[in-house]
Amino acid sequence: MVTRALDVVLLGPPGAGKGTQAKRVAATFNLLHISTGDLLREEVGKGTELGGLAASYMQKGELVPDDLVAKMLVTRLHSQQSLAGCVFDGYPRTRVQADLLDGLLAELGRRVDVAVYLDVPDDEVVARLGGRRSCPSCGAVYHVLTQPPARDMWCDVCGSALVVREDDREEVIRQRLSVYRAHTEPLLELYEARGVLKRVPGQGAPEEVFARLADAVRGGSQR
Ligand SMILES: [Zn+2]
Repeated sequence: MVTRALDVVLLGPPGAGKGTQAKRVAATFNLLHISTGDLLREEVGKGTELGGLAASYMQKGELVPDDLVAKMLVTRLHSQQSLAGCVFDGYPRTRVQADLLDGLLAELGRRVDVAVYLDVPDDEVVARLGGRRSCPSCGAVYHVLTQPPARDMWCDVCGSALVVREDDREEVIRQRLSVYRAHTEPLLELYEARGVLKRVPGQGAPEEVFARLADAVRGGSQR
């Protein structure tokens, strides 16, 4: 029996739990997990030519250009581990990146088979990310709901007073969310028009979310 590759795009706002879920989908369906964040860190860490170029942008606090990221993706997509397909975690984020990804997959006779949108309402994202408390001295991270420190607002490790990092302030989270939605809306429309979009409620226990996600991916593999 010839099985064709299954390529899955996983979309969702920051705090939706994409990373954890993408790893589980990859393990369950025997796919290659591709996170462009990990990919960048890996190339920079290995000191490859592409990594060196990427680092020069990152050091200036600039975004790594799309074509550079696409070059890193090419290597992964043409690797043995990618034969059964890939889960793209947090990529594409924009229409330009979606077109690049289509082009790369087309070279292999593949396409995005299913795009899953992990739908988490803004208030839930704010509750998840806004509950983070960080230790300015040792870097330990807590969460008021899921991982509270033993003593109210003090670090368990070193005893310092915990703080809410700038990135974890509600206004900053809401701003990031509105930027995310502005970029992602066109992607959702694109995948919807192709009939490959599945919206999966991202609320509830990680196991429940995964069960819904796995159903959506299975549906996509039967197209
Ligand atoms: Zn500490």
